[in-house]
Amino acid sequence: MSEEIKSKSGEKKIDESKYSMDTRLIYGKNVSDHWDYQHHVTAPISSSTTFRLDSVDRGAEGFMQFANTKALGDEAPIFIYDRLGEPNKDLLEENLAYIEKGEMAVTFTSGMGAISGVLGILTKTGDEIISHHTLYGCTISLFKNWYTRYNIAVRNVDLTNPENIYNVLNKNSKVIYFETPANPNLDIIDIAAIRKIVDEINKDRSEEDKITIVVDNTFSTSFCQRPIEQGADFVVHSLTKGMGGFGTDMGGAVIGKKIYRDALLLFRKDFGAVLNTRSAWSILTYGLPSLALRQKHIVRSAMRVAEFLDSHPKVEFVNYPGLESFKYHELAKKQMIDFNGNFAPGGLIYFVLKGINAAESKENGKKLMNYIADNAYTMTLAVSLGHTRTLIEHPASMTHSVVPAEKLVERGIDSGGVRISIGLENTDDILLDLDRSLEEI
Ligand SMILES: *Cc1c(COP(=O)(O)O)cnc(C)c1O
Repeated sequence: MSEEIKSKSGEKKIDESKYSMDTRLIYGKNVSDHWDYQHHVTAPISSSTTFRLDSVDRGAEGFMQFANTKALGDEAPIFIYDRLGEPNKDLLEENLAYIEKGEMAVTFTSGMGAISGVLGILTKTGDEIISHHTLYGCTISLFKNWYTRYNIAVRNVDLTNPENIYNVLNKNSKVIYFETPANPNLDIIDIAAIRKIVDEINKDRSEEDKITIVVDNTFSTSFCQRPIEQGADFVVHSLTKGMGGFGTDMGGAVIGKKIYRDALLLFRKDFGAVLNTRSAWSILTYGLPSLALRQKHIVRSAMRVAEFLDSHPKVEFVNYPGLESFKYHELAKKQMIDFNGNFAPGGLIYFVLKGINAAESKENGKKLMNYIADNAYTMTLAVSLGHTRTLIEHPASMTHSVVPAEKLVERGIDSGGVRISIGLENTDDILLDLDRSLEEI
């Protein structure tokens, strides 16, 4: 028996014909010379929660190597169990680190899994996070509903003026956290300016007390902006959005320096927010290879839609990094640069409809979206973004409903604000639908 198990490593082939067909239906050809995924043009999906170990020693070595980047070196990893690591996530992580200009990436079940992961390794009870006041709704909810329980305080400030860090800075501050462009109003934060301030503060701090900068790059995708190049320590992504690009799979990733990889892997193993293999495979196979093509079209289209909205009499104002009239246009031109060096202002547009007051503007926003839900072919009333289809939503009542009405202004959200995520449609068709819909309100 031990002879036969040993032979599975490939030196001696097992004679499968000795076994019954019902057993062979389960095992198939157990060892195949054909399983060599480096030579596949498309990576195969490795759907196995657990991995065969040739010997106890190999198992022990695998456990020793796990979350021990130093011990691993350049050898192929020994896979043990999906939650620790498996080929499809490893392949995706290698690619994500490469395109985002980081040293390593660790994937998670979702964007929220990634955010919980990176902040989970950077903070402990008593620490503080300094955050821009405008954020994705569930990140606000994470901070408000859960971090208060762990006694991790989150100080919300307006980071469009980086000097505001000093208003809330104290010895417990450990992380600066923001999105740029921010969800939903597209505030732009100057990453290099934040880096400069943090370097100044860190000069007087011990290694373990140094502040790190975490940027949520979901709105831009790696195509339109790479914050690590501009001074961020970590980037987080919701791969569910523009990185995945087709709206079929949830996913998240943390990208940063190699020294944090082991802690992230341990956190993921123990808290369990593991990206499923199939999703890793589809993001790797469909999302990333089409990223540049999709984003180039989306940016061109978004620019035209933003210009159309900006000149429309029923629109109060439009926030889009590509518009010269946008408050942060110059800063965006410095930060949002594609792989080829071109300005890439992204595919998200935020606009507010006119109204004699906030209530009327909100009512108009609602009317517009209900009309679109019923009558538009090229716009879908739905949350999420970075999809093949143009998605439109009303943050105050949908993605940011966690923010109470009296706090909307403080959080940078207009009660009548509308968010559009441009898709892959012919731009003329989006404009046709928008034009008709605006006429109806
Ligand atoms: C959607 C989103 C997230 C959360 O990602 P999930 O994959 O839905 O968990 C985080 N940040 C931003 C900016 C987002 O838009």
